[in-house]
Parts: sequence; structure tokens; C-alpha cells
Amino acid sequence: CGIVGYTGREAALDVVIEGLERLEYRGYDSAGVTVLADGRLATEKRAGKLAVLRKRLAEDPLPAATMGIGHTRWATHGGPTDANAHPHLDDAQRVAVVHNGIIENFAQLRAEIAERGHTLRSETDTEVVAHLLGEAYEGDLAEAMRAVCRRLDGAFTLVAVHADAPDVVVGARRNSPLVVGRGEGENFLASDVAAFIAYTREAIELGQDQVVELRRDGVTVTNFDGSPAEVREYHVDWDASA
Ligand code: GLU
Repeated sequence: CGIVGYTGREAALDVVIEGLERLEYRGYDSAGVTVLADGRLATEKRAGKLAVLRKRLAEDPLPAATMGIGHTRWATHGGPTDANAHPHLDDAQRVAVVHNGIIENFAQLRAEIAERGHTLRSETDTEVVAHLLGEAYEGDLAEAMRAVCRRLDGAFTLVAVHADAPDVVVGARRNSPLVVGRGEGENFLASDVAAFIAYTREAIELGQDQVVELRRDGVTVTNFDGSPAEVREYHVDWDASA
């Protein structure tokens, strides 16, 4: 339901959770975050409100990190449980992904993934994407995302990180919104500009079937086929406190 991604200089967890709080009005049943620190992904996810996740993080903090992703879930496939909350990880725990929307051909993809020996740990349509990204990754996360998206049907905003790709947050969209926030030495991804408006008002709206590679110092947008994409840059001028 709500998605936030960040890479920059700030404490990523704070930026991500604050962003998710700004999207809370949309309603959700679970929440989760993944940060990348010292070449490892660290994830915490819980059924319930962000306050539940916050309490858990206060008891057992994640390592300090300057990049991370977060999600508030409105369950469509699989009940609102800790296991079904996003982010979802691949078997090696090297990829983490969050998703808004519905992947229509998930049943076929789940069967395919199970057949190749992967362990499915949730009942979601989303988890297949983590496994497929883990398989497709050969050093370029955006390229892996494009390859995986070409296999997906339905509506999705996806945001992913890979343990071997420090400073890279990748996003993709089809029939579901994804916006980039451009900062100075930091960049943001979100399902809605409300998530990052406290930090920047320079935004890029992703078009249909596009993938974005976000780094601290750059934003690259391509189409699912890898060709350079036309993007719409704009300034958000509405009042964030409204
Ligand atoms: N279909 C996904 C799930 O049920 C994502 C739901 C959402 O948009 O929050 O986990």
C-alpha cells in the first residue's frame, strides 16, 4: 500500500519510517523495513501498525545504515501475518523487495520457483519477485529488475535492494504509482510524494513499464526493454502540512 526507498547520508531507517507514517492515511495491516549495512540485509516486519514495528525496532535495533526500503501492506494474497508482511527475501537473503498491487500470474511463478528448489516462506503474490530477482542478478540490479518485470502480469510498484549492491535502490512500475524524490547527495522513492516532501520537492514521476536505478548521486530511468526512458520532472508545490 505504502512504499518508501532511500539512499543518501541520513539514518535510512528514520527516513523510511517517517515516510511510511506520512502514507499511513491510506490504511494498512502490516509494516516492514530492510536496511543494508556491512554487506548484509537486515529486516524487521510485523503485522499491525507502524507503532508495533517501531516498538520491536526499539527493543532490537537494526544496524545503522544509509540506505533502506519500507512498506505498509494492505493484504490481497495471504492474511495479515508477520510472514506475509513485506519486505520479502530470497533464499540467500541477498535480495529484499516490497510491492504494491497484484501479480496476476503469481501461481504459475510460485510453482516454477518451488520446482527449482526455492523455499516459499509466505502466501503472498510478492515473494516470487524476490526469488526471481535473486536468480536474475548478475551484478546489475536494474537489469535483473527489468528481466523479472518482463515476466510479470498485473499491477505493481516494486522496490528492491541487493546485499551486493551498496547504494543502489531499484524501483519498477506498471499500473501502479512510483515517484522519485531528488535530493542533494540523497534520493528517494515512494508510492506518493507525501513520503519525502519534508526532504525535497524535486520529483520525477515514473511512466508505465519503467525501471529506476537510484543512487546517492544519480537517478537513471529505463523502460522494461532497457531503452532510455522519457521522464516527467516536476516541482511539488502543494502545502505538505495540508
Ligand atoms: N499483493 C501484495 C500482498 O498481498 C501487496 C499488497 C499491497 O499493495 O500492499 O502482499
